[in-house]
Amino acid sequence: MSKKTIANTNIINRLKEIQKIGHLTDKETRWLLTPKRVSYAELRIDRKKFPAWRVLFNDVLGPGKGGIRFHPEVTENEVMSLGFWMMVKNSLAELPFGGAKGGVRFNPKSASPQILEDVSRKYIDAFYKVLGQDIDIPAPDVYTNSQIMAWMLDEYEEKTNHHEPGMITDKPIELQGCVLRDEATARGGFIIITEIIRDLKLNKKGLKIAIQGFGNVGLNLSKILQEDGFKIVAVSDSQGGTYNKTGLNINQVVEAKTKFGSVANFPDGEKISNQELLELPINILILAALENQVTESNANNIQASHIIEMANGPTNYQADKILFDRKIMVVPDVLANAGGVIGSYFEWSQNKTGNILDKGYLKELLRQKMTNSWKKVRFIQKEHKRKVNLRTAAYLIAIERILAAGKLRGQLR
Ligand code: NAD
Repeated sequence: MSKKTIANTNIINRLKEIQKIGHLTDKETRWLLTPKRVSYAELRIDRKKFPAWRVLFNDVLGPGKGGIRFHPEVTENEVMSLGFWMMVKNSLAELPFGGAKGGVRFNPKSASPQILEDVSRKYIDAFYKVLGQDIDIPAPDVYTNSQIMAWMLDEYEEKTNHHEPGMITDKPIELQGCVLRDEATARGGFIIITEIIRDLKLNKKGLKIAIQGFGNVGLNLSKILQEDGFKIVAVSDSQGGTYNKTGLNINQVVEAKTKFGSVANFPDGEKISNQELLELPINILILAALENQVTESNANNIQASHIIEMANGPTNYQADKILFDRKIMVVPDVLANAGGVIGSYFEWSQNKTGNILDKGYLKELLRQKMTNSWKKVRFIQKEHKRKVNLRTAAYLIAIERILAAGKLRGQLR
């Protein structure tokens, strides 16, 4: 076990609360906050050095699983926090995975394809000994994609001199990727939204939705929602957003983003900032960009009655409290965006068994898994007489399973 512990106050405060409600010991709480292995390297490319990390946070439930992020602000603490959330998410979804995450601190937006390939291959050169289908399995995260996974797989197989497609997921289909993976995260979020509507008997036609982030998750979710008849009134990316209270045509927004580089320049909408998007008069706010978007400074201004956390960690601890007091339902990241890792699990199991599964079958499996998690979380929340939010309920379920596995192994006594 690493000597480092997580320094993210959001996570520490949340675990202190879980400790009280779930009657955890100090030792159990400390163990849950301590990563198993933190690997660090400097990737040297063109006489520049890029700091890079791979964190295996906890692997009592199975090999580590979690994406790799390329971003100019990646830090060790961020990668550890993301690894912690993966541990909770994988446990809640009842997957045979522990939690892990990786990151490289550099700006991929200004990098040439050659530099992107060099960074991807150097990442594997640095960390291939701590990766593998039964050790720790990466996938994409912010600003990484299936091409990057393809380069990483190729480098890994060159280094280890054998084929092992299950060492990484979200690969292109030709390299044994999974037919559902591109849309799995978004589809999982969509399943949760339809469950909310069913449970709370909401009128779908009257709902207004805003989505922050228009990448893999936000864009795919906006398409699925629109195809199903939902009205999306605002979307945004890193350069700003667009708002049309009568509803946006998502296909046209995609065209505008391709043409002008940002959704903010969509001609059929009003230009708004990301901050303004969060505070619009809407029903459902979908957060699909980065961490810490809803904090104590704007939580009181949120007008949506439901927040769906498709990004990891978009609401901080203080905001969570404010939103709970204001009776705004927050579907936590570890539940809302679990479709992604469930899709990765389908791919990994296909790779390990050699089976190739049909898209319709996988969609149904995803629906069952997401619905099952939703029902479990709602049940535990009801058991606590709704005095805890959905996040606390989700953590209680996930942590119970991790602690049980740690004790069965004798790693935690
Ligand atoms: P992506 O790189 O494809 O897209 C990120 C989007 O966010 C882009 O549109 C970008 O312009 C936008 N963005 C960046 N900074 C922003 C800001 N300050 N305000 C508004 N928008 C901003 O990434 P992604 O794969 O869509 O991931 C988005 C989030 O979802 C991340 O938190 C990621 O960890 C999480 N997530 C992704 C997956 C997956 O399968 N891709 C799975 C689970 C969780």
